[in-house]
Amino acid sequence: MKRLTSKMDWMEEQHHQEMAAKTADELIARLKMKPPINPLAIAQTESDILKFAGGDLGSRYDGKLEYVKSRGLFLLYYNTKYDIGLTEGQHHPRTLFSVSHELGHFFIDHHHQCLRRGVKPHRSKNEFRSHRQIEREADAFAASLMMPTVFARPMVNESPLSMDRIGDIAGHFGASLVSAAIRSVRLSDYPCALAGIRNGRVAWMFPSESLVNAGIYPKRGGIPENAEEPWEEMTGGSADSSQGDGTVADWFDTFSKEDLDDIYVGEEYLPVQVTETLVVLLTLDEDELAEEEEEDEED
Ligand SMILES: [Zn+2]
Repeated sequence: MKRLTSKMDWMEEQHHQEMAAKTADELIARLKMKPPINPLAIAQTESDILKFAGGDLGSRYDGKLEYVKSRGLFLLYYNTKYDIGLTEGQHHPRTLFSVSHELGHFFIDHHHQCLRRGVKPHRSKNEFRSHRQIEREADAFAASLMMPTVFARPMVNESPLSMDRIGDIAGHFGASLVSAAIRSVRLSDYPCALAGIRNGRVAWMFPSESLVNAGIYPKRGGIPENAEEPWEEMTGGSADSSQGDGTVADWFDTFSKEDLDDIYVGEEYLPVQVTETLVVLLTLDEDELAEEEEEDEED
């Protein structure tokens, strides 16, 4: 029963993130903007009630949005510490992601209303790190804002994903590699997923829709045996990418469809030292998955 509950929770969470992503897509369509998206230009369109300012805030926080009731204004602060070395007015993808995340709290209606009601201003640190649902919604909004569905989906689906291709996609949209990877997996028509290993366990995982439709669900916690070596290398300071071979059972829950457990999973490991996260791109062969499903139907 416990597993079923976690599957339901997962689907509900999925739904909330999709709604947040849709809010960003609609905003981009309304403003008629094209990539690369500049979230500060979007903030500017709300300048009547939204003021923003950046500065080097060190490790204090990456972004913050607060509502000043006496002035009827939202104030957005963002950290420019990642912009060091860039020319004036240029921002690192991480900075743009932080701004986009805070814009999520402004444009997602129930976040906006919370702030107006005086729920204490919240601070966000780093992309895809927090565990609270509201933070994940803002992250989903931000990822979608930087890579709007209408522009990103066709590019993502030119072929199955690899870290190389994700690097190209990130460059095209001016998005950070990690947010581009998550967004690409979510938009991919091919069976794949992206996992983030932090503190020696799978902290988050994003699957493609076709993976979920095949009955393969993310599994959190623990760490697959295959990932132990790349994880140890990363904690030892290595920034080198590597590849591995696994199976569905290593990374996913299949619930009642245990015959999917032995399907091959390609692993591409990318250490991201700045967030102490080992990012893993997991790819399955579309044909192998289809064969297994056909056999299933014959049973
Ligand atoms: Zn936030």
